[in-house]
Amino acid sequence: MCDVCHATPCDPRCPNAPDPPAVYTCKYCGEPIVPGDEYMEVDGDYYHLEDCAGDAALSILKDQFGARTGVAEVDRW
Ligand SMILES: [Zn+2]
Ligand SMILES: [Zn+2]
Repeated sequence: MCDVCHATPCDPRCPNAPDPPAVYTCKYCGEPIVPGDEYMEVDGDYYHLEDCAGDAALSILKDQFGARTGVAEVDRW
């Protein structure tokens, strides 16, 4: 039994409680996506919406859809 909350298993609010189980794993950062997290799903892969979806979406566009990024330059000719 837990010394802090005197429950088995721990009360979810107890500091000794284990992390909530991951629902998905973010393909971009590898961290778990836990209940309550917002996510983006692409083709069966999951990404944190706030932290990872923007960067992940860019690399998905480049890797899978041939998108190209560059720095605009004035034509020198
Ligand atoms: Zn506890
Ligand atoms: Zn992530």
